[in-house]
Amino acid sequence: MKEPIIELSNLSKQYDHVCAVNGLNLTIDRGEVFGLLGPNGAGKSTTILMMLGLTEPTEGTVNVCGYNSTREPLLVKQKVGYLPDNIGFYDERTGLENIIYTALLNKIPRKIANERANLLLKQVGLEEAKDKKAGKYSRGMKQRLGLADVLIKNPEVIILDEPTLGIDPEGVQELLQLIQVLSKEHNITVLLSSHHLHQVQQICDRVGLFVNGTLLAHGRIEELASELFSNAMITIEAKVSAISDPLLNEIQSLEHIIDVEVIGQQLLVVNSTSDITSSLAEIIIHSGTKLYGLSIKEHGLDDIYHQYFKGGGKHEISNTDSRGIR
Ligand code: ADP
Ligand code: MG
Repeated sequence: MKEPIIELSNLSKQYDHVCAVNGLNLTIDRGEVFGLLGPNGAGKSTTILMMLGLTEPTEGTVNVCGYNSTREPLLVKQKVGYLPDNIGFYDERTGLENIIYTALLNKIPRKIANERANLLLKQVGLEEAKDKKAGKYSRGMKQRLGLADVLIKNPEVIILDEPTLGIDPEGVQELLQLIQVLSKEHNITVLLSSHHLHQVQQICDRVGLFVNGTLLAHGRIEELASELFSNAMITIEAKVSAISDPLLNEIQSLEHIIDVEVIGQQLLVVNSTSDITSSLAEIIIHSGTKLYGLSIKEHGLDDIYHQYFKGGGKHEISNTDSRGIR
């Protein structure tokens, strides 16, 4: 059963001269991991602040966990864990002390706070570092500590603003996996924002593409991709030992071919209107060239995003996901 847990309705925010968020309509269901994605200045943080009741909308409404965030911010705060993009801890206190402190502020009794903080620090991979001062933590460790900090009060929803900012690529993967696992284990709805599209796509059930305060599209990544690319093309990448003109000519004369791109000495990128992998493989092998690998390229979020920008950001998705217009 789908249960709406975050509902934005015609939500707008005007700063003096900037329309930061413009008529946003979006519903996120319980248990989803939703990615709010867009470049810097798109309005992601402003949207998040309105969800938390930390800034007031100019127009429209925002409901989280059944409460109006603007009118009932304290009730929302009880249900929602928020990790801002610049989280600060008490540097002179240990990781464990910081989390226990947050627990006590949330009126969790000390004994339970202590048990829960230790358990959470273990879950986020900070068991060994829990007695180190938070000031000595790396950026990645601070983000993990931040996750423990938002989870300590057993929230129904966690909102993470640019959680991967400033973390090295490996750390990013680990952190994202952790967010995904924790959200499933604790049955938590996650909204995370990011301007690194490709980083987060793997863990998001749905994404919203956000530019200049407007939601360009939202849905499951595969659905957005098939909407945009279905009648367009299939892209096949072939890694070969060498690329010769006769080979290229032969590939170009294949049926259904759109074009062939040569990248470096060994990579062919073939666009076609249907799946021609087997005839492509045959031609390559017949030509005496070694075939090291052949794969159909999935269209990822970056491609989707660029496709929207090519259309001047005006491209409409006619048929959103199966849940209807959100
Ligand atoms: P994002 O988080 O996607 O990078 P923001 O929500 O921070 O975007 O900002 C959206 C727009 O609103 C930007 O143009 C930004 O300069 C502007 N903005 C954000 N906060 C304020 C503020 N407190 N006062 C005036 N303008 C703001
Ligand atoms: Mg931001």
